[in-house]
Amino acid sequence: MGNIKRLAVLTSGGDAPGMNACIRAVLLTANACNIDVIGFKHGFNGLLEQEFQTLHPHHVDNIIQRGGTILKSARCPAMEQPDGPVKAAAILDQLNIDALIVIGGDGSFRGTMAISKHYRGQLIGVPGTIDNDVDGTDTTIGFATAIDTALDAIDKIRDTADAFERIFLVELMGRHSGYLSLAAGIAGGAEQIICPEFGKLDADNLNTIITPIKHAQLLKGKTSYLIVVAEHSYPGGVTALAEALTMAIGIECRACILGHIQRGGSPVGADRILATKLGAFAVEQLLQGANLVMAGEVDGEARLYPLAKTGERAKAIDPFLVRWQQQIGSF
Ligand code: ATP
Repeated sequence: MGNIKRLAVLTSGGDAPGMNACIRAVLLTANACNIDVIGFKHGFNGLLEQEFQTLHPHHVDNIIQRGGTILKSARCPAMEQPDGPVKAAAILDQLNIDALIVIGGDGSFRGTMAISKHYRGQLIGVPGTIDNDVDGTDTTIGFATAIDTALDAIDKIRDTADAFERIFLVELMGRHSGYLSLAAGIAGGAEQIICPEFGKLDADNLNTIITPIKHAQLLKGKTSYLIVVAEHSYPGGVTALAEALTMAIGIECRACILGHIQRGGSPVGADRILATKLGAFAVEQLLQGANLVMAGEVDGEARLYPLAKTGERAKAIDPFLVRWQQQIGSF
């Protein structure tokens, strides 16, 4: 059994709906085990700057339904300097922190791994990112909410696309992965989905997109046509892609970038449950001695996964849905 008296938690990287629910679960579980909890503010910045607060149950009252994170999140370039992780570990020791829980994405877990080289305590990650690009868990906290947020926008864009008989390209977040675009595109009935996993797209192979559009218009008389595009899928982004398509097919193509809207909002039930489960599981596993692992969920079960492997991109986007989408896109 790990002998943990004082635990720290922070949220890092892009914020994700459900991070608050996770902080709440960590605090309530830890307090039930007589463990004190402090929260560092603004991701790793609060750790390096010693900006933190002791968390009490009243701090997590009424937050399970709130988007964002009460601890605030941020990127922290100082952590990527050679002395950043050294300083972070020294501060954790100085503050008598026995274990640190990092809620974030694979970048945040790289930072956590970097601290481990200098820290005597335990480190555990909990996957919180709308991108779902973390190995060792079927979904990340925030992903389910982001799908619904994107879907709400896609459904509305579909109405105006239909009324004006235009082609709309909707850009979704995802960093360098297409989980969100595939999921929201499928659920929104998108005619095409473009994401990095489908191979390189540039001006030289635009025909792979144009041919299905022409096919759809000539043979089916489609009045609206919606393409969901993951960010970083085309040089210059979705606006450049819309311009290139307009030039190539002579029909107005409009780009719509959803941007940070996708990060906000009240977490859906699935994210609140996942966040609660993984936050509580992380604390329980720390007490069992877990270290340098991530608390994920696979096939409905809470599982540990090596933190060092979370960013290997071994988790494929759903091959069944990819195949199906590519089949119907070509008809
Ligand atoms: P999301 O993808 O949802 O934005 P993320 O956790 O992957 O989440 P990143 O911006 O990649 O987001 O990383 C968050 C922070 O983790 C960085 O700002 C930095 O402080 C830290 N970090 C990332 N990579 C490293 C590294 N190699 N060494 C030390 N710290 C790192």
